[in-house]
Amino acid sequence: IQTQKRYDAVKYKTPTGATLTCKGWVQEAALRMLLNNLDPEVAERPDDLIVYGGRGKAARNFEALDNIIAALKVLENDESLLIQSGKPVGILRTHKDAPRVLISNSQLVPNWANWKHFEELEKKGLMMYGQMTAGSWIYIGSQGIVQGTYETYAAAADKDFGGTLRGTLNVTAGLGGMGGAQPLAITMNEGVALIAEVEEWRIDKRIETKYLDEKYTAIDAAIDAALAYKQQGMAKSIGVLCNAVHLLQRLLERNIVPNTLTDQTSAHDPLIGYVPHTLTNEQANKLRQENPEQYIDLSYDSMKLHVELMLELQTKGAVTFDYGNNIRARAKERGLQQAFDFPGFVPAYIRPLFCEGKGPFRWAALSGDPADIAVTDELIMQMFPENKGMIRWMKMAKEKIAFQGLPARICWLGQGEREKAGLAFNELVKTGKVKAPIVIGRDHLDTGSVASPNRETEAMLDGSDAVADWPLLNALVNTAGGASWVSLHHGGGVGMGYSIHAGMVIVADGSEDAAARLARVLRNDPGMGVIRHADAGYETAKQTARQHHLDLHERLK
Ligand code: NAD
Repeated sequence: IQTQKRYDAVKYKTPTGATLTCKGWVQEAALRMLLNNLDPEVAERPDDLIVYGGRGKAARNFEALDNIIAALKVLENDESLLIQSGKPVGILRTHKDAPRVLISNSQLVPNWANWKHFEELEKKGLMMYGQMTAGSWIYIGSQGIVQGTYETYAAAADKDFGGTLRGTLNVTAGLGGMGGAQPLAITMNEGVALIAEVEEWRIDKRIETKYLDEKYTAIDAAIDAALAYKQQGMAKSIGVLCNAVHLLQRLLERNIVPNTLTDQTSAHDPLIGYVPHTLTNEQANKLRQENPEQYIDLSYDSMKLHVELMLELQTKGAVTFDYGNNIRARAKERGLQQAFDFPGFVPAYIRPLFCEGKGPFRWAALSGDPADIAVTDELIMQMFPENKGMIRWMKMAKEKIAFQGLPARICWLGQGEREKAGLAFNELVKTGKVKAPIVIGRDHLDTGSVASPNRETEAMLDGSDAVADWPLLNALVNTAGGASWVSLHHGGGVGMGYSIHAGMVIVADGSEDAAARLARVLRNDPGMGVIRHADAGYETAKQTARQHHLDLHERLK
Protein backbone atom coordinates (compact mmCIF):
# COMPACT_ATOMS: atom_id res chain seq x y z
CA ILE A 1 0.00 0.00 0.00
CA GLN A 2 1.32 3.40 -0.92
CA THR A 3 0.83 5.75 1.97
CA GLN A 4 -0.20 9.34 1.43
CA LYS A 5 1.86 12.23 2.66
CA ARG A 6 -0.82 14.84 2.13
CA TYR A 7 -4.59 15.01 2.02
CA ASP A 8 -5.92 13.71 -1.28
CA ALA A 9 -9.30 15.23 -2.10
CA VAL A 10 -10.25 12.43 -4.51
CA LYS A 11 -9.13 9.47 -2.45
CA TYR A 12 -10.64 10.75 0.80
CA LYS A 13 -13.88 12.17 -0.59
CA THR A 14 -16.79 11.39 1.72
CA PRO A 15 -19.17 8.89 0.10
CA THR A 16 -22.78 10.11 -0.05
CA GLY A 17 -26.09 8.64 -1.20
CA ALA A 18 -27.89 5.46 -0.23
CA THR A 19 -25.38 2.88 -1.46
CA LEU A 20 -23.19 1.10 1.06
CA THR A 21 -19.43 0.84 0.64
CA CYS A 22 -19.11 -1.06 3.97
CA LYS A 23 -20.90 -4.13 5.32
CA GLY A 24 -23.48 -2.22 7.35
CA TRP A 25 -24.80 1.28 7.94
CA VAL A 26 -23.03 1.72 11.26
CA GLN A 27 -19.59 1.03 9.72
CA GLU A 28 -20.60 3.17 6.75
CA ALA A 29 -21.55 6.02 9.09
CA ALA A 30 -18.20 5.78 10.89
CA LEU A 31 -16.38 5.88 7.54
CA ARG A 32 -18.37 8.85 6.24
CA MET A 33 -18.02 10.83 9.46
CA LEU A 34 -14.27 10.14 9.66
CA LEU A 35 -13.80 11.38 6.08
CA ASN A 36 -16.21 14.25 6.70
CA ASN A 37 -14.05 15.36 9.65
CA LEU A 38 -11.16 15.68 7.18
CA ASP A 39 -13.11 17.33 4.36
CA PRO A 40 -11.32 20.63 3.57
CA GLU A 41 -14.63 22.44 4.13
CA VAL A 42 -14.69 21.03 7.66
CA ALA A 43 -11.10 20.48 8.82
CA GLU A 44 -8.73 23.31 9.66
CA ARG A 45 -5.62 21.58 8.21
CA PRO A 46 -6.43 18.38 6.32
CA ASP A 47 -2.82 17.97 5.15
CA ASP A 48 -1.85 17.42 8.78
CA LEU A 49 -5.07 15.49 9.57
CA ILE A 50 -5.92 18.32 11.96
CA VAL A 51 -9.62 18.94 12.34
CA TYR A 52 -9.82 21.75 14.92
CA GLY A 53 -8.63 22.93 18.33
CA GLY A 54 -4.96 23.46 17.65
CA ARG A 55 -3.82 19.91 16.88
CA GLY A 56 -6.98 17.83 17.34
CA LYS A 57 -6.63 15.02 14.82
CA ALA A 58 -8.94 12.47 13.24
CA ALA A 59 -6.23 9.83 12.70
CA ARG A 60 -2.64 9.48 13.85
CA ASN A 61 -1.03 9.62 10.41
CA PHE A 62 -1.95 8.83 6.80
CA GLU A 63 -0.98 5.20 7.14
CA ALA A 64 -3.32 4.87 10.13
CA LEU A 65 -6.04 6.68 8.20
CA ASP A 66 -5.72 4.30 5.25
CA ASN A 67 -5.83 1.33 7.60
CA ILE A 68 -8.91 2.64 9.42
CA ILE A 69 -10.70 3.04 6.10
CA ALA A 70 -9.69 -0.48 5.03
CA ALA A 71 -10.72 -1.91 8.41
CA LEU A 72 -14.14 -0.25 8.34
CA LYS A 73 -14.74 -1.79 4.92
CA VAL A 74 -14.07 -5.36 6.09
CA LEU A 75 -15.69 -4.96 9.51
CA GLU A 76 -18.56 -7.42 10.04
CA ASN A 77 -21.84 -6.62 11.82
CA ASP A 78 -20.80 -8.59 14.90
CA GLU A 79 -17.31 -7.15 15.23
CA SER A 80 -15.74 -4.07 16.78
CA LEU A 81 -12.73 -2.11 15.55
CA LEU A 82 -10.35 -0.81 18.22
CA ILE A 83 -8.67 2.58 17.75
CA GLN A 84 -5.75 3.52 20.00
CA SER A 85 -4.91 7.22 19.70
CA GLY A 86 -5.86 7.45 16.06
CA LYS A 87 -4.45 4.11 14.91
CA PRO A 88 -6.43 0.92 14.29
CA VAL A 89 -5.00 -1.89 16.41
CA GLY A 90 -7.44 -4.78 16.13
CA ILE A 91 -10.82 -6.17 15.18
CA LEU A 92 -12.53 -8.31 17.79
CA ARG A 93 -15.74 -10.36 17.83
CA THR A 94 -18.50 -8.64 19.83
CA HIS A 95 -22.21 -8.77 18.84
CA LYS A 96 -24.72 -6.95 16.67
CA ASP A 97 -25.76 -4.40 19.29
CA ALA A 98 -22.22 -3.57 20.42
CA PRO A 99 -20.46 -0.44 19.16
CA ARG A 100 -18.78 -1.08 15.81
CA VAL A 101 -15.86 1.13 16.84
CA LEU A 102 -14.29 1.67 20.27
CA ILE A 103 -11.89 4.60 20.51
CA SER A 104 -9.42 5.68 23.16
CA ASN A 105 -7.42 8.84 22.48
CA SER A 106 -4.55 10.56 24.30
CA GLN A 107 -4.93 8.66 27.57
CA LEU A 108 -1.93 8.88 29.89
CA VAL A 109 -1.45 7.57 33.40
CA PRO A 110 -2.13 10.63 35.60
CA ASN A 111 1.43 11.12 36.84
CA TRP A 112 2.61 11.36 33.22
CA ALA A 113 -0.36 13.34 31.96
CA ASN A 114 1.35 16.49 30.72
CA TRP A 115 2.20 18.01 27.34
CA LYS A 116 5.90 17.26 27.68
CA HIS A 117 5.42 13.54 28.02
CA PHE A 118 2.67 13.52 25.43
CA GLU A 119 4.92 15.32 22.95
CA GLU A 120 7.71 12.77 23.43
CA LEU A 121 5.23 10.01 22.66
CA GLU A 122 3.77 11.90 19.73
CA LYS A 123 7.24 12.39 18.24
CA LYS A 124 7.81 8.67 18.47
CA GLY A 125 4.55 8.16 16.61
CA LEU A 126 2.88 6.48 19.58
CA MET A 127 0.03 8.89 20.23
CA MET A 128 -2.12 11.66 18.84
CA TYR A 129 -4.23 14.39 20.37
CA GLY A 130 -7.91 13.66 19.79
CA GLN A 131 -9.38 16.93 21.14
CA MET A 132 -13.08 16.19 21.60
CA THR A 133 -14.93 15.48 18.36
CA ALA A 134 -11.83 15.41 16.09
CA GLY A 135 -10.63 11.98 17.18
CA SER A 136 -14.15 10.72 17.70
CA TRP A 137 -15.34 11.58 14.19
CA ILE A 138 -18.36 13.75 14.91
CA TYR A 139 -17.12 17.27 14.25
CA ILE A 140 -19.53 19.11 11.96
CA GLY A 141 -17.61 22.32 11.35
CA SER A 142 -18.25 25.58 13.10
CA GLN A 143 -22.03 25.13 13.36
CA GLY A 144 -21.60 22.91 16.43
CA ILE A 145 -19.86 25.60 18.29
CA VAL A 146 -21.97 28.46 16.91
CA GLN A 147 -24.88 26.92 18.79
CA GLY A 148 -22.96 26.57 22.08
CA THR A 149 -21.54 30.05 21.72
CA TYR A 150 -24.95 31.44 20.78
CA GLU A 151 -26.38 29.90 23.99
CA THR A 152 -23.57 31.40 26.05
CA TYR A 153 -23.95 34.91 24.66
CA ALA A 154 -27.75 34.64 24.90
CA ALA A 155 -27.37 33.74 28.58
CA ALA A 156 -24.97 36.67 29.06
CA ALA A 157 -27.45 38.96 27.30
CA ASP A 158 -30.24 37.75 29.59
CA LYS A 159 -28.18 38.10 32.72
CA ASP A 160 -26.44 41.42 32.09
CA PHE A 161 -27.92 43.31 29.11
CA GLY A 162 -31.69 43.01 29.29
CA GLY A 163 -32.02 40.09 26.87
CA THR A 164 -30.07 41.35 23.83
CA LEU A 165 -26.53 42.36 22.91
CA ARG A 166 -27.85 45.18 20.71
CA GLY A 167 -25.63 48.24 21.19
CA THR A 168 -22.86 46.30 22.93
CA LEU A 169 -19.18 45.80 22.04
CA ASN A 170 -18.00 42.21 22.45
CA VAL A 171 -14.26 41.65 22.27
CA THR A 172 -12.50 38.32 21.92
CA ALA A 173 -9.70 36.61 19.96
CA GLY A 174 -9.15 33.56 17.78
CA LEU A 175 -11.01 32.73 14.56
CA GLY A 176 -9.98 29.07 14.41
CA GLY A 177 -12.12 25.97 14.12
CA MET A 178 -14.22 26.86 17.12
CA GLY A 179 -13.37 30.48 17.71
CA GLY A 180 -14.62 31.13 14.17
CA ALA A 181 -18.15 30.72 15.51
CA GLN A 182 -17.88 33.71 17.80
CA PRO A 183 -18.68 36.48 15.30
CA LEU A 184 -21.87 34.79 14.11
CA ALA A 185 -23.01 33.88 17.62
CA ILE A 186 -22.56 37.50 18.69
CA THR A 187 -24.35 39.00 15.69
CA MET A 188 -27.17 36.45 16.11
CA ASN A 189 -27.56 38.02 19.55
CA GLU A 190 -27.59 41.45 17.82
CA GLY A 191 -24.22 42.65 19.15
CA VAL A 192 -20.97 43.98 17.64
CA ALA A 193 -18.03 41.56 17.64
CA LEU A 194 -14.41 42.74 17.52
CA ILE A 195 -12.04 39.80 17.20
CA ALA A 196 -8.24 39.65 17.08
CA GLU A 197 -6.67 36.94 14.91
CA VAL A 198 -3.01 36.58 13.94
CA GLU A 199 -3.52 34.54 10.77
CA GLU A 200 -5.05 36.32 7.80
CA TRP A 201 -6.28 33.14 6.06
CA ARG A 202 -8.41 32.34 9.09
CA ILE A 203 -10.13 35.72 8.83
CA ASP A 204 -10.67 35.20 5.10
CA LYS A 205 -12.08 31.70 5.69
CA ARG A 206 -14.69 33.03 8.15
CA ILE A 207 -15.69 35.76 5.70
CA GLU A 208 -16.11 33.16 2.95
CA THR A 209 -18.43 31.04 5.10
CA LYS A 210 -20.38 34.18 6.11
CA TYR A 211 -19.56 33.80 9.80
CA LEU A 212 -17.69 37.09 9.80
CA ASP A 213 -18.65 40.39 8.15
CA GLU A 214 -15.49 42.51 7.82
CA LYS A 215 -11.70 42.33 7.88
CA TYR A 216 -9.31 45.05 9.07
CA THR A 217 -5.54 45.03 9.15
CA ALA A 218 -5.14 48.15 11.33
CA ILE A 219 -6.21 48.00 14.98
CA ASP A 220 -7.41 51.58 15.34
CA ALA A 221 -9.51 51.45 12.19
CA ALA A 222 -11.11 48.23 13.43
CA ILE A 223 -11.89 49.74 16.82
CA ASP A 224 -13.37 52.84 15.19
CA ALA A 225 -15.60 50.76 12.93
CA ALA A 226 -16.77 48.62 15.84
CA LEU A 227 -17.61 51.70 17.92
CA ALA A 228 -19.58 53.19 15.04
CA TYR A 229 -21.66 49.99 14.66
CA LYS A 230 -22.20 49.87 18.41
CA GLN A 231 -23.44 53.45 18.34
CA GLN A 232 -25.88 52.63 15.53
CA GLY A 233 -27.05 49.46 17.29
CA MET A 234 -26.07 47.39 14.26
CA ALA A 235 -25.17 43.70 14.52
CA LYS A 236 -21.75 43.44 12.81
CA SER A 237 -18.63 41.39 13.23
CA ILE A 238 -15.09 42.56 12.60
CA GLY A 239 -11.94 40.48 12.38
CA VAL A 240 -8.72 42.38 12.95
CA LEU A 241 -5.35 41.01 11.93
CA CYS A 242 -3.36 41.38 15.15
CA ASN A 243 -2.37 39.68 18.35
CA ALA A 244 -5.01 39.62 21.08
CA VAL A 245 -2.60 41.25 23.51
CA HIS A 246 -2.07 44.19 21.18
CA LEU A 247 -5.81 44.69 20.72
CA LEU A 248 -6.44 44.73 24.48
CA GLN A 249 -3.48 47.07 25.07
CA ARG A 250 -4.84 49.49 22.48
CA LEU A 251 -8.36 49.37 23.97
CA LEU A 252 -6.91 50.25 27.37
CA GLU A 253 -4.77 53.05 25.89
CA ARG A 254 -7.88 54.51 24.29
CA ASN A 255 -9.89 53.91 27.46
CA ILE A 256 -12.47 51.83 25.65
CA VAL A 257 -14.13 49.18 27.81
CA PRO A 258 -15.90 46.37 25.97
CA ASN A 259 -19.24 45.16 27.29
CA THR A 260 -18.14 41.53 27.16
CA LEU A 261 -14.64 40.12 26.96
CA THR A 262 -13.33 36.60 26.45
CA ASP A 263 -10.75 34.68 24.39
CA GLN A 264 -10.64 31.69 22.08
CA THR A 265 -7.03 31.40 21.07
CA SER A 266 -5.83 27.82 21.59
CA ALA A 267 -4.23 28.74 24.91
CA HIS A 268 -4.72 25.17 26.10
CA ASP A 269 -1.70 24.33 23.93
CA PRO A 270 1.18 26.78 24.50
CA LEU A 271 3.35 25.40 21.69
CA ILE A 272 0.95 24.92 18.79
CA GLY A 273 -2.12 26.90 19.76
CA TYR A 274 -0.98 30.26 21.06
CA VAL A 275 1.11 32.92 19.32
CA PRO A 276 3.08 35.13 21.74
CA HIS A 277 2.63 38.87 21.20
CA THR A 278 6.41 39.28 21.02
CA LEU A 279 6.63 37.29 17.77
CA THR A 280 5.32 37.82 14.28
CA ASN A 281 3.65 34.82 12.67
CA GLU A 282 6.71 34.02 10.59
CA GLN A 283 8.98 34.25 13.63
CA ALA A 284 6.55 32.07 15.57
CA ASN A 285 6.52 29.34 12.92
CA LYS A 286 10.32 29.33 12.81
CA LEU A 287 10.92 29.36 16.56
CA ARG A 288 8.32 26.63 17.14
CA GLN A 289 10.44 24.33 14.98
CA GLU A 290 13.87 25.47 16.06
CA ASN A 291 13.48 26.02 19.78
CA PRO A 292 10.17 24.77 21.17
CA GLU A 293 11.20 25.37 24.77
CA GLN A 294 11.91 29.03 24.17
CA TYR A 295 8.64 29.28 22.26
CA ILE A 296 6.66 27.86 25.19
CA ASP A 297 8.42 30.26 27.52
CA LEU A 298 7.40 33.27 25.41
CA SER A 299 3.89 31.85 25.13
CA TYR A 300 3.51 31.68 28.89
CA ASP A 301 4.78 35.25 29.33
CA SER A 302 2.31 36.44 26.74
CA MET A 303 -0.63 34.54 28.24
CA LYS A 304 0.12 35.98 31.67
CA LEU A 305 0.05 39.51 30.23
CA HIS A 306 -3.07 38.61 28.23
CA VAL A 307 -4.94 37.61 31.40
CA GLU A 308 -3.64 40.67 33.26
CA LEU A 309 -5.12 42.87 30.53
CA MET A 310 -8.41 40.97 30.73
CA LEU A 311 -8.48 41.50 34.50
CA GLU A 312 -7.79 45.21 34.04
CA LEU A 313 -10.68 45.55 31.61
CA GLN A 314 -12.87 43.52 33.98
CA THR A 315 -12.07 45.98 36.77
CA LYS A 316 -13.17 48.77 34.44
CA GLY A 317 -16.52 47.06 33.89
CA ALA A 318 -16.19 44.49 31.09
CA VAL A 319 -18.23 41.31 31.71
CA THR A 320 -15.27 38.95 31.45
CA PHE A 321 -15.30 35.16 31.23
CA ASP A 322 -13.00 32.32 30.22
CA TYR A 323 -14.26 30.49 27.15
CA GLY A 324 -12.83 27.13 27.98
CA ASN A 325 -9.29 27.42 26.58
CA ASN A 326 -7.62 27.26 29.99
CA ILE A 327 -5.87 30.61 29.60
CA ARG A 328 -6.42 31.35 33.31
CA ALA A 329 -4.51 28.22 34.32
CA ARG A 330 -1.61 29.17 32.03
CA ALA A 331 -1.40 32.63 33.60
CA LYS A 332 -1.57 31.12 37.06
CA GLU A 333 1.19 28.63 36.22
CA ARG A 334 3.24 31.73 35.34
CA GLY A 335 2.60 33.21 38.79
CA LEU A 336 -0.51 35.36 38.29
CA GLN A 337 -2.34 34.55 41.52
CA GLN A 338 -5.57 36.37 40.65
CA ALA A 339 -5.91 34.66 37.25
CA PHE A 340 -9.14 32.98 38.30
CA ASP A 341 -10.82 36.24 39.31
CA PHE A 342 -13.02 36.00 36.23
CA PRO A 343 -15.28 32.94 35.93
CA GLY A 344 -15.44 30.19 33.36
CA PHE A 345 -18.47 30.21 31.06
CA VAL A 346 -19.92 26.95 32.38
CA PRO A 347 -20.62 27.96 35.99
CA ALA A 348 -21.52 31.44 34.70
CA TYR A 349 -23.98 30.40 32.00
CA ILE A 350 -24.26 26.71 31.04
CA ARG A 351 -24.62 24.62 34.20
CA PRO A 352 -28.34 25.29 34.72
CA LEU A 353 -28.92 23.70 31.29
CA PHE A 354 -26.78 20.67 32.17
CA CYS A 355 -28.98 20.09 35.22
CA GLU A 356 -31.94 19.46 32.89
CA GLY A 357 -29.89 17.05 30.79
CA LYS A 358 -29.63 19.72 28.09
CA GLY A 359 -26.67 19.59 25.80
CA PRO A 360 -25.41 19.72 22.23
CA PHE A 361 -27.47 17.17 20.31
CA ARG A 362 -26.31 17.04 16.68
CA TRP A 363 -27.04 15.03 13.58
CA ALA A 364 -25.83 14.69 9.99
CA ALA A 365 -27.49 13.43 6.82
CA LEU A 366 -25.44 10.54 5.42
CA SER A 367 -27.18 11.03 2.08
CA GLY A 368 -25.29 14.30 1.68
CA ASP A 369 -28.57 15.94 0.67
CA PRO A 370 -29.44 19.23 2.42
CA ALA A 371 -33.14 18.43 1.81
CA ASP A 372 -32.84 15.65 4.41
CA ILE A 373 -31.76 18.16 7.03
CA ALA A 374 -34.66 20.43 6.05
CA VAL A 375 -37.02 17.50 6.79
CA THR A 376 -35.44 16.96 10.23
CA ASP A 377 -35.50 20.71 10.99
CA GLU A 378 -39.26 20.83 10.42
CA LEU A 379 -39.82 17.72 12.50
CA ILE A 380 -37.82 18.99 15.48
CA MET A 381 -39.66 22.33 15.47
CA GLN A 382 -43.02 20.53 15.33
CA MET A 383 -42.08 18.10 18.08
CA PHE A 384 -40.99 20.62 20.72
CA PRO A 385 -43.04 23.80 20.17
CA GLU A 386 -42.67 24.74 23.85
CA ASN A 387 -38.86 24.94 23.55
CA LYS A 388 -38.86 28.56 22.38
CA GLY A 389 -35.11 29.20 22.58
CA MET A 390 -34.48 26.14 20.44
CA ILE A 391 -37.02 27.25 17.84
CA ARG A 392 -35.48 30.75 17.63
CA TRP A 393 -32.09 29.13 17.08
CA MET A 394 -33.39 26.67 14.45
CA LYS A 395 -34.95 29.46 12.40
CA MET A 396 -31.77 31.52 12.43
CA ALA A 397 -29.59 28.48 11.78
CA LYS A 398 -31.63 27.56 8.69
CA GLU A 399 -31.13 31.04 7.34
CA LYS A 400 -27.55 31.83 8.36
CA ILE A 401 -25.56 28.62 8.69
CA ALA A 402 -23.76 27.45 5.58
CA PHE A 403 -23.26 23.68 5.74
CA GLN A 404 -19.67 22.42 5.78
CA GLY A 405 -19.20 18.90 4.44
CA LEU A 406 -22.17 16.62 5.10
CA PRO A 407 -25.32 18.67 5.84
CA ALA A 408 -25.81 18.69 9.60
CA ARG A 409 -27.76 20.37 12.34
CA ILE A 410 -27.34 20.97 16.03
CA CYS A 411 -29.66 22.14 18.76
CA TRP A 412 -29.59 21.78 22.51
CA LEU A 413 -32.11 19.19 23.70
CA GLY A 414 -32.71 17.90 27.22
CA GLN A 415 -33.62 14.71 29.03
CA GLY A 416 -36.54 13.03 27.29
CA GLU A 417 -36.30 15.22 24.20
CA ARG A 418 -33.18 13.55 22.79
CA GLU A 419 -34.65 10.08 22.85
CA LYS A 420 -37.89 11.26 21.23
CA ALA A 421 -35.94 13.02 18.49
CA GLY A 422 -33.73 9.98 17.82
CA LEU A 423 -36.72 7.65 17.47
CA ALA A 424 -38.50 10.12 15.20
CA PHE A 425 -35.42 10.32 12.96
CA ASN A 426 -35.35 6.53 12.77
CA GLU A 427 -38.96 6.62 11.56
CA LEU A 428 -38.02 9.15 8.87
CA VAL A 429 -35.39 6.74 7.59
CA LYS A 430 -37.73 3.75 7.83
CA THR A 431 -40.52 5.46 5.92
CA GLY A 432 -38.20 6.86 3.24
CA LYS A 433 -38.86 10.50 4.13
CA VAL A 434 -35.09 11.00 4.08
CA LYS A 435 -32.81 9.43 1.50
CA ALA A 436 -30.30 7.63 3.74
CA PRO A 437 -29.66 7.00 7.45
CA ILE A 438 -29.03 9.81 9.89
CA VAL A 439 -26.13 9.84 12.30
CA ILE A 440 -26.68 11.36 15.74
CA GLY A 441 -23.94 12.45 18.11
CA ARG A 442 -22.81 15.16 20.42
CA ASP A 443 -19.84 17.13 21.66
CA HIS A 444 -17.93 15.72 24.63
CA LEU A 445 -18.77 19.05 26.26
CA ASP A 446 -22.07 17.80 27.58
CA THR A 447 -23.89 17.23 30.80
CA GLY A 448 -22.69 13.77 31.83
CA SER A 449 -19.62 13.08 29.74
CA VAL A 450 -16.78 15.21 31.01
CA ALA A 451 -14.62 15.96 34.02
CA SER A 452 -12.73 19.21 33.46
CA PRO A 453 -12.17 21.26 36.60
CA ASN A 454 -11.33 24.50 34.75
CA ARG A 455 -14.28 24.21 32.40
CA GLU A 456 -17.32 21.90 32.42
CA THR A 457 -16.95 20.90 36.06
CA GLU A 458 -15.54 24.15 37.43
CA ALA A 459 -16.91 25.07 40.88
CA MET A 460 -19.26 22.10 41.30
CA LEU A 461 -21.59 22.51 44.26
CA ASP A 462 -20.02 19.62 46.20
CA GLY A 463 -16.41 20.24 45.15
CA SER A 464 -16.30 17.15 42.93
CA ASP A 465 -14.71 19.10 40.03
CA ALA A 466 -11.84 16.67 39.40
CA VAL A 467 -13.73 13.40 39.88
CA ALA A 468 -13.33 11.53 36.58
CA ASP A 469 -15.48 8.49 37.37
CA TRP A 470 -18.39 10.16 35.58
CA PRO A 471 -17.01 10.29 32.02
CA LEU A 472 -15.73 6.73 32.41
CA LEU A 473 -19.18 5.56 33.50
CA ASN A 474 -20.62 7.48 30.59
CA ALA A 475 -18.45 5.64 28.05
CA LEU A 476 -19.23 2.32 29.71
CA VAL A 477 -22.98 2.87 29.80
CA ASN A 478 -23.06 3.99 26.16
CA THR A 479 -21.08 0.91 25.19
CA ALA A 480 -23.45 -1.29 27.17
CA GLY A 481 -26.47 0.45 25.64
CA GLY A 482 -25.25 -0.09 22.08
CA ALA A 483 -24.03 3.24 20.77
CA SER A 484 -22.55 2.97 17.28
CA TRP A 485 -19.15 4.24 18.32
CA VAL A 486 -17.88 5.29 21.71
CA SER A 487 -14.74 7.23 22.55
CA LEU A 488 -12.86 8.09 25.71
CA HIS A 489 -10.41 10.99 25.48
CA HIS A 490 -8.01 12.93 27.67
CA GLY A 491 -7.03 16.58 27.52
CA GLY A 492 -9.66 17.93 25.10
CA GLY A 493 -10.32 21.67 25.15
CA VAL A 494 -8.12 22.47 28.11
CA GLY A 495 -5.00 20.41 27.44
CA MET A 496 -3.13 17.44 28.87
CA GLY A 497 -3.75 16.73 32.52
CA TYR A 498 -6.86 18.90 32.72
CA SER A 499 -9.77 16.81 31.43
CA ILE A 500 -11.18 13.33 30.80
CA HIS A 501 -14.22 13.05 28.54
CA ALA A 502 -16.31 10.65 26.51
CA GLY A 503 -18.03 10.75 23.14
CA MET A 504 -20.98 8.91 21.72
CA VAL A 505 -22.45 8.53 18.24
CA ILE A 506 -25.49 6.51 17.24
CA VAL A 507 -26.91 5.76 13.82
CA ALA A 508 -30.61 5.83 12.95
CA ASP A 509 -30.82 3.43 10.00
CA GLY A 510 -34.57 2.81 10.17
CA SER A 511 -34.29 -0.69 11.61
CA GLU A 512 -36.03 -2.08 14.71
CA ASP A 513 -32.64 -2.86 16.24
CA ALA A 514 -31.58 0.73 15.78
CA ALA A 515 -34.80 1.95 17.43
CA ALA A 516 -34.07 -0.17 20.51
CA ARG A 517 -30.49 1.08 20.68
CA LEU A 518 -31.54 4.73 20.16
CA ALA A 519 -34.12 4.50 22.95
CA ARG A 520 -31.53 3.16 25.39
CA VAL A 521 -28.57 5.33 24.47
CA LEU A 522 -30.39 8.64 24.07
CA ARG A 523 -32.04 8.18 27.46
CA ASN A 524 -28.97 6.94 29.33
CA ASP A 525 -26.45 9.39 27.90
CA PRO A 526 -28.05 12.66 29.11
CA GLY A 527 -29.37 10.67 32.09
CA MET A 528 -25.77 10.31 33.27
CA GLY A 529 -25.54 14.09 33.37
CA VAL A 530 -28.76 14.46 35.34
CA ILE A 531 -27.58 11.82 37.81
CA ARG A 532 -24.13 13.45 38.08
CA HIS A 533 -25.55 16.91 38.81
CA ALA A 534 -28.21 15.55 41.18
CA ASP A 535 -25.48 13.70 43.05
CA ALA A 536 -23.56 16.98 43.34
CA GLY A 537 -26.63 18.56 44.96
CA TYR A 538 -28.22 20.68 42.22
CA GLU A 539 -31.96 21.02 42.90
CA THR A 540 -32.99 21.28 39.23
CA ALA A 541 -31.10 18.08 38.48
CA LYS A 542 -32.82 16.32 41.38
CA GLN A 543 -36.20 17.39 40.03
CA THR A 544 -35.29 16.31 36.50
CA ALA A 545 -34.13 12.95 37.86
CA ARG A 546 -37.46 12.42 39.64
CA GLN A 547 -39.48 13.51 36.63
CA HIS A 548 -37.65 11.10 34.31
CA HIS A 549 -37.39 8.18 36.75
CA LEU A 550 -33.64 8.40 37.07
CA ASP A 551 -33.70 8.74 40.85
CA LEU A 552 -32.11 5.72 42.53
CA HIS A 553 -33.79 6.30 45.89
CA GLU A 554 -37.25 6.23 44.33
CA ARG A 555 -36.30 3.00 42.60
CA LEU A 556 -35.18 1.47 45.89
CA LYS A 557 -38.37 2.40 47.74
P1 NAD B 1 -7.75 26.79 16.67
O1 NAD B 1 -6.39 26.37 17.06
O2 NAD B 1 -8.37 26.26 15.45
O3 NAD B 1 -7.78 28.38 16.58
C1 NAD B 1 -7.08 29.23 17.46
C2 NAD B 1 -6.86 30.54 16.72
O4 NAD B 1 -6.25 31.49 17.58
C3 NAD B 1 -5.96 30.40 15.51
O5 NAD B 1 -6.65 30.89 14.39
C4 NAD B 1 -4.74 31.21 15.86
O6 NAD B 1 -4.17 31.82 14.74
C5 NAD B 1 -5.30 32.23 16.81
N1 NAD B 1 -4.34 32.77 17.77
C6 NAD B 1 -3.41 32.10 18.49
N2 NAD B 1 -2.76 32.92 19.32
C7 NAD B 1 -3.29 34.15 19.11
C8 NAD B 1 -3.05 35.42 19.69
N3 NAD B 1 -2.18 35.57 20.66
N4 NAD B 1 -3.81 36.46 19.26
C9 NAD B 1 -4.72 36.32 18.27
N5 NAD B 1 -4.97 35.14 17.69
C10 NAD B 1 -4.28 34.06 18.12
O7 NAD B 1 -8.65 26.48 17.95
P2 NAD B 1 -10.24 26.50 18.11
O8 NAD B 1 -10.80 25.20 17.69
O9 NAD B 1 -10.80 27.74 17.53
O10 NAD B 1 -10.36 26.57 19.69
C11 NAD B 1 -9.84 27.67 20.41
C12 NAD B 1 -9.76 27.42 21.90
O11 NAD B 1 -11.01 27.53 22.53
C13 NAD B 1 -9.25 26.03 22.26
O12 NAD B 1 -8.44 26.13 23.40
C14 NAD B 1 -10.49 25.26 22.53
O13 NAD B 1 -10.25 24.16 23.32
C15 NAD B 1 -11.31 26.32 23.23
N6 NAD B 1 -12.72 26.15 23.04
C16 NAD B 1 -13.55 25.87 24.02
C17 NAD B 1 -14.89 25.74 23.78
C18 NAD B 1 -15.85 25.43 24.74
O14 NAD B 1 -16.84 24.88 24.41
N7 NAD B 1 -15.65 25.84 25.89
C19 NAD B 1 -15.38 25.92 22.58
C20 NAD B 1 -14.53 26.24 21.60
C21 NAD B 1 -13.21 26.33 21.83
